[in-house]
Amino acid sequence: MFSKIPWKRIDWRNTSFLLITPPLMVLTTYWHVTLEGLNLWLFVPAIIMYFVTGYSITLGYHRLFSHKAFKAHPAVQIFTLIFGSAAFQNSVLKWGSDHRRHHAQCDREKDPYNISKGFFWAHIGWVLVKEEPQYRNKFAKDLENNPLVAWQHQHNLSISIVVGLIFPTLLGIAMGSPIGGIAIIALARLVMVHHCTFFINSLCHMVGNRPYTASNSARDSWLIAFFSFGEGYHNFHHFFQNDYRNGVRWYQYDPTKWIVYLLSKIGLTSGLIRTPEEEILKARFMMQQIEYKGELALSSPSTFLGVQKIKLEEALKNINKLKQDYQKLRQGLEVSGANSLADLNRKIKIARHELRATFNVWLVALKRSHLQYS
Ligand SMILES: [Zn+2]
Ligand SMILES: [Zn+2]
Repeated sequence: MFSKIPWKRIDWRNTSFLLITPPLMVLTTYWHVTLEGLNLWLFVPAIIMYFVTGYSITLGYHRLFSHKAFKAHPAVQIFTLIFGSAAFQNSVLKWGSDHRRHHAQCDREKDPYNISKGFFWAHIGWVLVKEEPQYRNKFAKDLENNPLVAWQHQHNLSISIVVGLIFPTLLGIAMGSPIGGIAIIALARLVMVHHCTFFINSLCHMVGNRPYTASNSARDSWLIAFFSFGEGYHNFHHFFQNDYRNGVRWYQYDPTKWIVYLLSKIGLTSGLIRTPEEEILKARFMMQQIEYKGELALSSPSTFLGVQKIKLEEALKNINKLKQDYQKLRQGLEVSGANSLADLNRKIKIARHELRATFNVWLVALKRSHLQYS
């Protein structure tokens, strides 16, 4: 077993940190309980730190810096950079570069957390080996031009230690439980955020369904979304990676998207990227045709399902045509039947409304047909 371990490639700093923190958490918690007596009040700052550092990763590191899914006021950038450091997941420059490579090379050899190498590798194994030098920050060159990102990259370790370890210890001292501060606010919080983030790279490529694409292993899972601040809708995210939402439907648990949205209402975020609804419905339609190909093969074009399929294809074609006309008119080209951009905009809105209604009837037809043939 040990002969298979690539000893020369091991990153001893990462490995010792990731392997020591969980047992140290257990040991310090034991010391806290036996020497100081369990102080339940410690869980208040620990939970706050858990959410603050977790959201700094999902909202800041992931959706803001890695995907540029929205723009953020420098105050939001500084906040997420400082508390992102406190999550001990390296600088955003390194994190973002790895993550963009994951999207670009998903499931292939160059994917840093390639799930085809197994759960352990995608979850934590890839962090335990040294990075191949040719990939160092390669996918995040644009981020180097952001002075705040450059500052965080340069001082990442100091910020991590001060905010992630010393600050929780000081909180513990102030609450009369210095060991408890280290055990609960620093270590337990840190280990929790680590593994919740790691689950996105491992479980989100193994467990759940694929409503938007089968072109990669990413999956949607509400359960993982619950533990990962909304990042569990990973199939949607891999297909529409610049969208500020991961759980795109209003009821899907994605608190990160709600925070980005609320911050936009007070001017701290702007330019939120939303995938047009027709693109999302088109992706679902494509996947449903794969999933229900048995039912579709059995039903002729004259059945309820067949008719709805044709209607949906027409509704998609209609909105595509209107959008193409809109682009043509914007470029000063001639478009038949359209008077102005405002006119076309109105028609696109009506077409989108009709598409939504057609899609809902198609869903009913699918369900009915599935019951009939199953
Ligand atoms: Zn992924
Ligand atoms: Zn991503």
